[in-house]
Amino acid sequence: MLNKIKYTLLSMFTVFKHLFKNPVTLEYPEKRITPPEKFRGKISVSGCVSCGTCRKVCPSGAIEITENEFIIDLKKCIFCGNCQFYCPHKAIKLGDEYELATDNQDSLKLVYEFYKGGE
Ligand code: SF4
Ligand code: SF4
Repeated sequence: MLNKIKYTLLSMFTVFKHLFKNPVTLEYPEKRITPPEKFRGKISVSGCVSCGTCRKVCPSGAIEITENEFIIDLKKCIFCGNCQFYCPHKAIKLGDEYELATDNQDSLKLVYEFYKGGE
């Protein structure tokens, strides 16, 4: 009996303790967070010279480089940031886009074509 009273009081105390605090969650999707500066979200590539460094340091094999294309498979990517860190040309960046859930798996394959140059 004493235990029941003790735990009831404890749970009431816990409820009251949090009653006047600000919520730690947002009413998604009406409200969204602004990702912090170093957030690792959707990858973009610009100015790549096809050196292959990022492919070598990618632990999940998410990067494929062909003669004409640079392909990132976001289904495999674990957003570790290695590719961005080691790219000698700062050509690959993890941005702040985090809403990547989709029922279209093909849209998670990012394909960048290399500029062929000349006529
Ligand atoms: S993104 Fe950077 S590291 Fe990767 S192939 Fe291009 S230039 Fe090299
Ligand atoms: S963030 Fe990590 S897992 Fe994703 S492509 Fe870059 S190196 Fe690979």
